[in-house]
Amino acid sequence: MRAMVLEEHGGPLVLRRLPVPEPGPGEVLVHVRACAVDRFDLAIRAGGRERSTLPHVLGHEIAGEVAGAGAGVAGWPVGARVAATLYLVCGSCRWCLRGRETICENFRGHVGVNVPGGYAEYVVMPARNLVALPESIDFPAGSILANAVGTPFHALTARMGLLPGERLVVTGAGGGVGLHAVQLAGMLGASVMAVDLGAGKAAAARECGADVAVDAARGDLAEAIRDWTGGRGADAVLELVGPATMPATLAALAKGGRMVIVGSHTGVEWTIDPGAIYRNEWEIRGSRNVSVDELNTVVDLVSRRLIRPIVAGTHPLERAEVLHERVRSGTVVGRDVLVP
Ligand SMILES: [Zn+2]
Repeated sequence: MRAMVLEEHGGPLVLRRLPVPEPGPGEVLVHVRACAVDRFDLAIRAGGRERSTLPHVLGHEIAGEVAGAGAGVAGWPVGARVAATLYLVCGSCRWCLRGRETICENFRGHVGVNVPGGYAEYVVMPARNLVALPESIDFPAGSILANAVGTPFHALTARMGLLPGERLVVTGAGGGVGLHAVQLAGMLGASVMAVDLGAGKAAAARECGADVAVDAARGDLAEAIRDWTGGRGADAVLELVGPATMPATLAALAKGGRMVIVGSHTGVEWTIDPGAIYRNEWEIRGSRNVSVDELNTVVDLVSRRLIRPIVAGTHPLERAEVLHERVRSGTVVGRDVLVP
């Protein structure tokens, strides 16, 4: 099979021919029909905290067709259209049993990081990660459901408990996760302030239903949030950015407000006054990706046209390098997708 292979951390992606992998017990072989590209791929490629063994095939946002199955797999016949979660979990610890498998106690990493991923014609995945993808959702859209749509779905529902009428601030709102967060929040009846950099991202966030869009580089963000909420502050903040925006979004959180943190690509340290947290009864929570059960709900929302997956473009496998450059530039609206 054809695959784009990373042979050294920080090195180029090289087109190679590799043997089609064999699914083991509990695993399926998936013919990759679409694999999205995102910022996480750049980090894995560089060889940071999440270090892959080399040579490695990237790609963790995958949709395709079942092409074979290992021992003990039932219900996934050859040709079944599937999307998938990317976490390698045990399925039997207390968190997996509660449907919170993204905090599995025996977490073994991610597809495309700790095992080969979807920048290839075929990939092996655990059968427990699969969800059925109806004909009404094409493969490129299907490939972005678990990460770009599922991540904000879990964050806004299970972790934030967003309510109709609430005022929500989304930072990084013009990115792949952010644009779907804006749509989901609108569907849930909240009013959204989208925060990002540049006019293109602001326009995209408005098209997804944001009530206002603010350029984080211009003016005082905390003041803009207070103005938008009549001085009260935001009921909730979805943080996809990290320390570059957190001091401002926390300062403009209403009493009793919730901040849910999903990403922090602008740094790892942040100073908080604990007194402000207890005086205001703020809740600060983390949120990690999406469960298989929730991904089934996401598929249903998309198939009913309540949420529109935003695919920036589709490209042949050989274009992976160009797509990485596009992610690095921070200009992609939605997700670019490889179609191997
Ligand atoms: Zn587990």
